Amino acid sequence: RAKEALTHNVCFYEVSMDEAARDRRLIATDLWYAIERKELQLYYQVQKAVQSGSVIGYEVLLRWNHSERGMISPAQFIPIAEECGAILPIGEWVLREACKEAANWDQPHKIAVNLSPVQLGNADVAGLVHRVLRETGLAPERLELEITESTIIGDKERALRTLRQIKALGVTIAIDDFGTGYSSLETLRSFPFDKIKLDRSFMSEVEESPQAKAILRAIVALGQTLEVPVLAEGVETRNQLDILLSEGCAEAQGYFLGRPGPMEGKSPSQAA
Ligand code: C2E
Ligand code: MG
Ligand code: MG
Ligand code: MG
Repeated sequence: RAKEALTHNVCFYEVSMDEAARDRRLIATDLWYAIERKELQLYYQVQKAVQSGSVIGYEVLLRWNHSERGMISPAQFIPIAEECGAILPIGEWVLREACKEAANWDQPHKIAVNLSPVQLGNADVAGLVHRVLRETGLAPERLELEITESTIIGDKERALRTLRQIKALGVTIAIDDFGTGYSSLETLRSFPFDKIKLDRSFMSEVEESPQAKAILRAIVALGQTLEVPVLAEGVETRNQLDILLSEGCAEAQGYFLGRPGPMEGKSPSQAA
């Protein structure tokens, strides 16, 4: 009986894997048309100084409103876009649209754009950034690129070279989702970066877990020593913000401070 059930499960598993694979192929095909069909949209989420509450900038988060499937989460389609290469035109579109938008704001807030490891590995990102800044007139110091640690795990030398070129333009680099990769300390030691974004898993645990709090404290201290600000992601409650304040964490982002949303021609000062 047990054996029968197991066999059955295996078969079911294989069928659903097959379907998942087919679904990924369908999504990949549609991704190539998403830009021209105007199905992509940028959301913005505010980043604030913990102590003063003042706005530092906005992170750009991509949304895909698929004609039949509805809203598809970036967590779902970015990996597919990376696999099929569509991340290159899509990433370029995101960068250009975001810089165009920010160049029109009435206040010089920063704009933080996520950069895929595939972009860093396959395209002349520094050249692209340079062109887009020139085209849109956005001051380089208003642009921040967020890269995850996994970006750096691939071709390290190449990634380093590209990051140095980007920094030479005056653009800043933030390490995203810090604390979830395998080589956090190695990353900090060898890469030129201007901000540490602490992964939101720490925030979700910081109230109950003394370990999470100890790590928060240690990373804030590390940031102070290295003279780079630490931004805590995923702040959802007043209490979490109070913890950040008492721990001396400089910056925060999360639903409690503002949910991601479209800018829709509003000035960012009016956005949620
Ligand atoms: P990320 O860069 O770490 O972005 C933060 C994610 O956390 C966003 O998810 C945001 O909506 C979510 N978030 C913000 N505050 C809170 C909070 O208080 N609680 C919780 N539970 N979540 C919060 P989103 O928009 O679904 O994006 C997921 C990931 O997709 C991003 O993680 C980023 O890695 C990637 N992504 C999004 N847009 C782009 C893009 O334009 N290019 C690339 N390469 N990746 C992107
Ligand atoms: Mg990010
Ligand atoms: Mg993050
Ligand atoms: Mg993330």
